[in-house]
Amino acid sequence: MASLTLKGIYKIYSGEVKAVNDINLYIRDKEFVVFIGPSGCGKSTTLRMIAGLEEISQGELYIGDRLVNDVAPKDRDIAMVFQNYALYPHMSIYDNMAFGLRLRKVPKTEIDRRVKEASKILDIEHLLNRKPKALSGGQAQRVALGRAIVREPKVFLMDEPLSNLDAKLRVQMRTEIIKLHNRLQTTFIYVTHDQTEAMTMGSRIVVLKDGFMQQVDTPQNLYDFPDNKFVAGFLGSPQMNFIPCMLVEDGETLYADFGKGRVVIPEVKKKKFKDLTKYIGRQVIMGIRPEDIKNDEEYIEAHPEAQVKAVVDLVENLGAETYLYLNVDGLILTARVDPRCKLRADDKAVVAFNTTRLHFFDYETDETILNR
Ligand code: ADP
Repeated sequence: MASLTLKGIYKIYSGEVKAVNDINLYIRDKEFVVFIGPSGCGKSTTLRMIAGLEEISQGELYIGDRLVNDVAPKDRDIAMVFQNYALYPHMSIYDNMAFGLRLRKVPKTEIDRRVKEASKILDIEHLLNRKPKALSGGQAQRVALGRAIVREPKVFLMDEPLSNLDAKLRVQMRTEIIKLHNRLQTTFIYVTHDQTEAMTMGSRIVVLKDGFMQQVDTPQNLYDFPDNKFVAGFLGSPQMNFIPCMLVEDGETLYADFGKGRVVIPEVKKKKFKDLTKYIGRQVIMGIRPEDIKNDEEYIEAHPEAQVKAVVDLVENLGAETYLYLNVDGLILTARVDPRCKLRADDKAVVAFNTTRLHFFDYETDETILNR
């Protein structure tokens, strides 16, 4: 078991490609940290530097109190699970799992104990005599996990381990990895571009973009208090709606004006602005999540100050919920509403914004302009 400290870590590939810039992060012992971001944002590179598979261009990496920049991967007490499983095709599953331990000269009886214990945890005991080609994708991924478990590492690193599985298996393996983490009580670092995996698995999530860390927090805090427009848009599906608007003050009341629409910003929200006077009379970006655009009559009637007129562009019924695509002055907003909603395309509609949940971002910098 171990903590990790990343201090000012950079990766600069030849040709001045800055893949990772100034990563500063403390990962507690037993934490489940997820790195997420779009393709090419530097997730794998960061993980590979932690694993020792990629040299650190600048900065310091500690596992526990030990500086490991120059420590070989095999001496770092970590185990990595890859997307493509990386099993040895000519070896049995038992030998695939035992191989790394044999290299380390672990006694035979101890190897046997660990392989059997890991295969029991992962429910692959019946597969031990098979060869990898006789396994399904899900089984192969379990073996890859098993091979990591038998090492009894201080830190588990996983690079998109579920992306080769079909949707149903992904969900199943996701819950199994969460249970595995609970059971092993070891530090997990997990790379994915899938926001559901990040939200459900991570005790904390690190959001990356273009090689820069955007925000590090618990899943719920990232969802509720995104530091910038990128994080706000990246987590949440359908994604947050962004509405350019003007902040207008009339007496004590603060409004957000957008085209023909206008909503009152409630007092509790008004108090959260970091520097309200700077933004009054200026354009900002208002953010509202689809579930905060309401179309139930009671809510709409109770909130005349938050009503918005729209024309329904499209209705998508998913059974458990419906997505309404609403045209508001040429801007298409997505609302997540009750599937029994009667609205159809081209209908005129009045909805109400849950204004206590509004987000606001600086028009130029995209940074949030609200305190928590
Ligand atoms: P992610 O895992 O988030 O998809 P990567 O960490 O693989 O992203 O890559 C980050 C950036 O570094 C990308 O722009 C990628 O093209 C670049 N990169 C990755 N590996 C190399 C390499 N060996 N040489 C040069 N550039 C690389």
